Amino acid sequence: MLWPRTGRRHVAAEQAQRLADVRQKNPESETWLALVEAALAESQDATTWDAAVPAPVDGRAARAPLLHGTEVGVDRRSASRFVRHLAQLSGLDGAAHRLDALDLLEAAIRQDDARIDALAAGDPSRLRVVAQIAAVPLLRACAQAIGSEAFGNGGDAWWEGYCPLCGAWPTLAEFRGLERKRWLRCGRCGSGWVVPWLRCPFCAETSHENLGYLAPEDGETTRKVEVCDTCKGYVKAEPTVSELPWWGVLLDDVATVALDVAALDRGYHRPERPGFGLEVKVVEVGGSWWRS
Ligand SMILES: [Zn+2]
Ligand SMILES: [Zn+2]
Repeated sequence: MLWPRTGRRHVAAEQAQRLADVRQKNPESETWLALVEAALAESQDATTWDAAVPAPVDGRAARAPLLHGTEVGVDRRSASRFVRHLAQLSGLDGAAHRLDALDLLEAAIRQDDARIDALAAGDPSRLRVVAQIAAVPLLRACAQAIGSEAFGNGGDAWWEGYCPLCGAWPTLAEFRGLERKRWLRCGRCGSGWVVPWLRCPFCAETSHENLGYLAPEDGETTRKVEVCDTCKGYVKAEPTVSELPWWGVLLDDVATVALDVAALDRGYHRPERPGFGLEVKVVEVGGSWWRS
């Protein structure tokens, strides 16, 4: 993707400002934010991950996300460098240096926690966090290259609750613009898709008797939590003037941790299983000759 130079600088400045703001208000999330910052920087350097973008497989099942059944080619050196950097930032010790970065990326994209745990030499919970962020620039490159054409610029050609590109559950719901259309947003690849109001993304419940929301008592924010009493799932929701940039989804997720706490306190949870059992292979592509 080619950006006009000034456009790119402008985005970087906006990101930096928003990041500083979230950092200041959420000092307890510093480790996570340092990882997010590294992923944002990595995504600016699109050439590393551009080579990875696969073509969607013809004849995919209608409910299968675009990446299902694809092979994603990754430059091993770049991927290893990035994964090592994230491991360092998260305080993983030297054992992380022997990690196979492509294995980790594949497990992360497939949301296969058991496989990530098996790769961990030390604390598996930290490696899960590293894996989650490690997949972001790669999935982001895929979304930029193939996402928009396949589920329409209107975003309304997809009916599932999970991401049409990578199969993850939505990180948050956006009520966008004056029409207040409800967009679900993926915090991994940044994709967005329109879903009707009053429909649970996790179990497709549509009865208003079983759907509701939690709002902070102080009325300080227009953000809230959508909850479903059928599956006990929840998703955070916020009004936006215009489309939240993909990195805004990641940062707003951190900025709204209080809403997660409120939902968990009341017995709601995020589904443990991924939205879709994505089958993806991450394979090695050649070195610098690849983009000659
Ligand atoms: Zn996604
Ligand atoms: Zn539900």
